[in-house]
Amino acid sequence: MLSYRHAFHAGNHADVIKHLTLVLCCEHFCKKDKGFSYIDTHAGAGMYDLKSAPATKNNEQIDGIGALKKSTKHPKVLNSYLNFVEQAKKQRKNAYPGSPWFASQYLRPQDQANLFELHPKDFHSLSSLFSGNRRIQTKQSDGYMGLKSLFPPPSRRAITLIDPPYEQEKEYQSVIHTLKEGISRFNSGTYIVWYPLINRSNTTKNKAGEKMLKQIKSLFKQEQLHTQFILDKDLSGMYGSGLAIINPPWGLKEQLQEALTFLCSIDETKKREFTLEAIDVNQGSSKR
Ligand code: SAM
Repeated sequence: MLSYRHAFHAGNHADVIKHLTLVLCCEHFCKKDKGFSYIDTHAGAGMYDLKSAPATKNNEQIDGIGALKKSTKHPKVLNSYLNFVEQAKKQRKNAYPGSPWFASQYLRPQDQANLFELHPKDFHSLSSLFSGNRRIQTKQSDGYMGLKSLFPPPSRRAITLIDPPYEQEKEYQSVIHTLKEGISRFNSGTYIVWYPLINRSNTTKNKAGEKMLKQIKSLFKQEQLHTQFILDKDLSGMYGSGLAIINPPWGLKEQLQEALTFLCSIDETKKREFTLEAIDVNQGSSKR
């Protein structure tokens, strides 16, 4: 079942948090000359048109990149992310970039990327966007399965983004399985897992999400950083989203604290709030 299309959601509040975190992680990885791998298990189309019919259907970007662009005096921690958003618009009118495009901006000759996307149309856009870039491999295959074939990466340095549509409840357990496989082969990599926060009468998916989060916290012995950004908890449907980051780069927590504090201040029409929790499993402590 491939009914999910990210074009309907491009630039929304969840994209802002996810892409900002990705940009900050890439920036940390580029502080060292040694190469790194970027793996996107669910890459999407790579670039979206915010004026297209899907994107304007619910205009989700209004509460995301739209609200952020209207704000003034953003902190420096948002500079790179916002500069890239502007750069993409210079390349293509009305564009908002996807996760693989942000990561591609950081790739140096010693780095490489592997992008997985199943949807035929989105795969076509993705592979066209990066055709001719020998550092980037695109594959129209299952990202959950693809990850283990790449690990451990030759450089022993990697950022993996796991960003499924969660159309089916079983995907929450596929994420756990994929993390187990990945971490058993390569336990020092940085893994970023995105998940939605949803208000709905049918709570089985919510329970699956909560169970996944509990499992991530208890199963993996690596350092973890957990954040949730809530646009407005009274909204029906997706009212926010979360990121579980395993082996976060040093200093990311402080950067997210500053960025999320600002993002909560930019629009008083919504009850924006966030949580940030660092888990240092070695010390058995949870620092909020
Ligand atoms: N990561 C993208 C970004 O931030 O720009 C958005 C990705 S979107 C949330 C999820 C994508 O995963 C969709 O384009 C969908 O077609 C694709 N997909 C669904 N199941 C997949 C699978 N098992 N393997 C690879 N891609 C899959």
